[in-house]
Amino acid sequence: MKRVLISACLVGLNTKYDGGNNYNQVFADMVKRGEAVPFCPEQAGGLPTPRSPSEITGGDGQDVVEGKARVITVKGEDVTEAFIKGAKEALKLAKLIGADTAILKSISPSCGSKCVYDGTFSGKLRDGMGVCAAYLMANGIKVVDSQELPRANK
Ligand code: SF4
Repeated sequence: MKRVLISACLVGLNTKYDGGNNYNQVFADMVKRGEAVPFCPEQAGGLPTPRSPSEITGGDGQDVVEGKARVITVKGEDVTEAFIKGAKEALKLAKLIGADTAILKSISPSCGSKCVYDGTFSGKLRDGMGVCAAYLMANGIKVVDSQELPRANK
């Protein structure tokens, strides 16, 4: 059976920056059926949970991957390297399980694939991808935004 990679918070694992999750039964059922494998790139990159919220400044995740933008926490810490490390781990896991698709949580600076916050911590969105989404796409993994799937609302 072909499996997909899925953002861990979508299936109820408490991986969010605030220690919570974005549980959705549609996605949790995919894991139960063996169709999806959960993964959190920010945790895999070495960041703690809970952790300070982060946004991409100077571009989007594609720009971060290309070394043209940075990921900064609300406290001003540069966590770019942890985000890149987590993205690389995500690709490693995708290859290990033979996944060619990842279902990733909308808007997150790691997992977002349509839009992300604009780096000003003011709640404003801009078009663009998160770091993990951009890295996976650059390496041939199809990325699906979690909000795009039928019956999914996260
Ligand atoms: S990095 Fe991705 S998987 Fe981890 S908590 Fe954020 S949105 Fe969820």
